[in-house]
Amino acid sequence: MLKTRQDLIEAPMDLRPHIVLLGAGASRAACPTGDAGGRLLPVMDDLIDVVGLQQLIDRVRPEGLQDRNFEAFYGQMIADPKCASQVKEIERHIDSYLSSLSLPTHTTIYDQLLVSLRPRDAVFTFNWDPFLFDAYQRNRYSVSLPEIFFLHGNVRIGACREHDLWGDRNGVCLKCSQRLSDVPLLYPIARKDYSNNDYIRHSWEAAKTLFKDAFTLTIFGYSAPDSDKDAKELLRSAWLDRSDRKMEHIEIIDIADHSYLHDCWSPFTPTFHYDIVRIFEQSRLARWPRRSGESIWFPMTQGIPCEDFPLPISDSLEELQAFVGEIARHEKE
Ligand SMILES: [Zn+2]
Repeated sequence: MLKTRQDLIEAPMDLRPHIVLLGAGASRAACPTGDAGGRLLPVMDDLIDVVGLQQLIDRVRPEGLQDRNFEAFYGQMIADPKCASQVKEIERHIDSYLSSLSLPTHTTIYDQLLVSLRPRDAVFTFNWDPFLFDAYQRNRYSVSLPEIFFLHGNVRIGACREHDLWGDRNGVCLKCSQRLSDVPLLYPIARKDYSNNDYIRHSWEAAKTLFKDAFTLTIFGYSAPDSDKDAKELLRSAWLDRSDRKMEHIEIIDIADHSYLHDCWSPFTPTFHYDIVRIFEQSRLARWPRRSGESIWFPMTQGIPCEDFPLPISDSLEELQAFVGEIARHEKE
């Protein structure tokens, strides 16, 4: 017996959410040759070079501070109240570089990822770049999308100070028509404060709730650096809060070597129910778009394998949207 693609597409089930967690590796995979203008996407290790911070750092560096590593450098700067204005200048520089990035016009992995999930699902990202937000904007009217949350802030978004609403940084609140305030980027210091900003606090509360409720979890290009130790622990305990996750699968999309990924993510899966794939195209989302939960549920509970129906391999966004539109037509959410 086999669940055919037609069975799966035409009879969507009401399963718990599929949650996706994104790190820098996902943005790099989405735009491997840079943004629309060929500008590179920084990761923490090359932030100083890619964003062009060296001159600024040389100018504002307090005497005696020699660190080449942004994380260490920034951590020391922010600990010193005398450096407040220099810290602001560095932050402005990073924000301005990242907000100037734009998605290529062709289909990217972020378009594919978003349209492959359903509204009850959610994407949480640690990334500051605008690619996920921009992909959301350009797909939102073609098919219903999952919720998206920016756990470390983002250069595209703003939030109302009065109401629990957020949107485009340049937009206004739908309730009070006040201009939205920027959501600050959270920088790499060991103990991050998730309660300082309302938007970020709400995103972490949503993460706790949704990780707890999740049916399955995909971790894409996130290396869980030491500076995110508390964050990782919070997500792990939420994920394991509901059950010991004997059945549910975690999927990891990453190019790092398997032993590293095993060390990093085995605390999330005490029974080692996880798969590692190296590219998004091999992932459950790309093979069973909008039916990823079903593709686990049938084999797991009834021993019935599921025929896959992979996303089209095409640069055309219209083609992608038409393909998933045909699947979404059968959903009543
Ligand atoms: Zn408001």
